[in-house]
Amino acid sequence: MKVNQAEFIISAVGPSQYPEDALPEIALAGRSNVGKSSLINCLISRKNLARTSSQPGKTQTLNYYKINQDLYFVDLPGYGYAKVSKTKREQWGKFIESYLMNRETLRLVMQLVDLRHPPSKDDQAMYEWLRHNDVPVIVIATKADKIPKSRWSKHIKIVRETLGMDKGVQPLMFSSELGLGKDELWGILEQAIAY
Ligand code: GDP
Repeated sequence: MKVNQAEFIISAVGPSQYPEDALPEIALAGRSNVGKSSLINCLISRKNLARTSSQPGKTQTLNYYKINQDLYFVDLPGYGYAKVSKTKREQWGKFIESYLMNRETLRLVMQLVDLRHPPSKDDQAMYEWLRHNDVPVIVIATKADKIPKSRWSKHIKIVRETLGMDKGVQPLMFSSELGLGKDELWGILEQAIAY
């Protein structure tokens, strides 16, 4: 997609603040620091529209970015941040869950995992939950530039097995640093918003 316009719209704390123009939405999920902001910036070829987080996990809002007049990226709060209380984590889980279950304009969730490490318990729970609730999801393995290509298949296998991905389903290799995977991902996103 040719991005002519990309703007930050709102950090929404609840449904009353979600946009009402019914454009399709693509959400991003993943633990803090996995590379969500970098992926958004890479997709839209901007250096820092989406803030790369200096304070991981602090934002507990849905951050809406409008791309042309075509779609929204919705950056979900990063999960798995140890420093918030259990009650807070539960509240914020419910907030995300209710968005993912009830948002009619949501077309696809990009679930980001760091290719270098096995997916965490939170990653596993998120993926399972999305599958269980029939929310369309694509797994994106970030920071692929940090692993030599000769070792990709070993890491891909760990990601696939830890998440329990179906046979034949592969994570999409991505590097915001190199722009690797960008065209392939845009192809998938365009398809997801096409109907
Ligand atoms: P977020 O918290 O998920 O939004 O993560 P950020 O986008 O802020 O990225 C966290 C850190 O990882 C930053 O220092 C980024 O520069 C770095 N990072 C993100 N994506 C990549 C990537 O594809 N390759 C490399 N080498 N570093 C990355």
